[in-house]
Amino acid sequence: AALVETPPARIGDAPAIRAGFDGELDGERRLRDDTRQVIAALQTELASRYGVASLKVRHHSQLGYVLEAPAAAVEALRAFPELILRQGLASAARFTHPELSDLDRRIAEAHERAAAREALVLDHLLAAVMREEAALAECAAALARLDALQSAATLAESGRWSAPELSEDAAFSIIAGRHPVVEAALPAGTRFIANDADLSPERRLMLLTGPNMAGKSTFLRQNALVIILAQAGLPVPAEQARIGLVDRLFSRVGAADDLAAGRSTFMVEMIETASILNQAGPRSFVIIDEIGRGTGTRDGLAIAQAVLEALHGSIRCRSIFATHFHDLVQLGAALPRLRPCTMRVKSWRGSVVFLHEVIEGAAERSWGVHVAKLAGLPEPVIRRADALLRAAERGGGEAGALPLFAAAGEDPAPPAELPAADGWHAALAEADPDQLSPRAALELIYAWRRKFLGDRADGAVEKQ
Ligand code: ADP
Repeated sequence: AALVETPPARIGDAPAIRAGFDGELDGERRLRDDTRQVIAALQTELASRYGVASLKVRHHSQLGYVLEAPAAAVEALRAFPELILRQGLASAARFTHPELSDLDRRIAEAHERAAAREALVLDHLLAAVMREEAALAECAAALARLDALQSAATLAESGRWSAPELSEDAAFSIIAGRHPVVEAALPAGTRFIANDADLSPERRLMLLTGPNMAGKSTFLRQNALVIILAQAGLPVPAEQARIGLVDRLFSRVGAADDLAAGRSTFMVEMIETASILNQAGPRSFVIIDEIGRGTGTRDGLAIAQAVLEALHGSIRCRSIFATHFHDLVQLGAALPRLRPCTMRVKSWRGSVVFLHEVIEGAAERSWGVHVAKLAGLPEPVIRRADALLRAAERGGGEAGALPLFAAAGEDPAPPAELPAADGWHAALAEADPDQLSPRAALELIYAWRRKFLGDRADGAVEKQ
């Protein structure tokens, strides 16, 4: 009853006490907000008190608020001692009045007084709340629990969530799991691709490769989320889930950059990794989303490999490890419980299409140049990067050496200049956008693309 519907986060930013709760506060606010109405009310009252209907309250630059009476009424008004004649004019006279000078002061102070009164009312309210602290906290906890259970029941009833099966062993098998938040955020008409996850003891370490934007982070998080929900006794966003109890869940995912505290991205990454390696045990579940990114490629790769080996050999927990270091896939031969998986991707007309599907195997390539292209890097930069990459791939290089640098000796020729300006100018000048149908415009784009890119314009459909 005391508070407004949406009280401000900070007292004083907006009214917190509801109108009608405290008469004195209402009065101060009225004075502050409706000066005109307050003056009009006082004018009516004084006019009837002194029997002069045409009495007016006016503001005077030197005298402040005054009563103005017609000359004819002056004699009668002189009889009242509280009215002091200040100015006599031919047609009217001006009096000061104690209630008016008080009004002057009160209007000036109304702001402060309203704020002070509100603070006082709030203090009383707080004291009243604190007296009921225990009961209110119990009430809030009960409502929160009811809210969570009610929400879970609604989800369970939707048919797309299921009751997980928990066991004492180290099972982890999810059929058609989803990330409910990413799914809800997908644009209309886009379907979320459900994915299985099998981290049974003989394949408890999943090494997930695939380009950026393919859905690795989503997959990692959705599996962690299923564990949290399952162990909280709630339904899970999957067709089926069998989970051996997890004692601790660890995650190392990006976006925890703490530059303000003087810690670089890489430092944060290493601190988080250290805490995982120092604390995780065989019953834990670990998700790691990229490691060794913030340092040189060699360091990064070495650290990532060492962390993988520790997860596999000494910690021996269930874990999903997403990385862009494809070379790590080779570790599969030495680490029997490591299972390389990748995000399915296909190339279509020279571009990359993400299928968001987790499959066994390794990413054939990193698609970095394609992703850069999707992001809008200028065409010449993309072409140059592509050429450097191809040359590096052809160059090979001895084991362990970075292919890109190994091939540095045979730097491919810099890209050709843009086609002769005159040809393009002519083609552009010929096309009249206002006259083109959408279809003709599309054909024109295809034609120019063929002319500009030659063979590369018709990228073959390639599946991985
Ligand atoms: P990555 O970690 O590989 O860079 P993300 O997990 O961040 O990729 O996913 C990138 C985007 O792809 C998401 O924001 C989402 O829009 C879409 N996405 C991811 N997983 C799926 C999925 N299973 N089904 C449909 N869309 C997905």
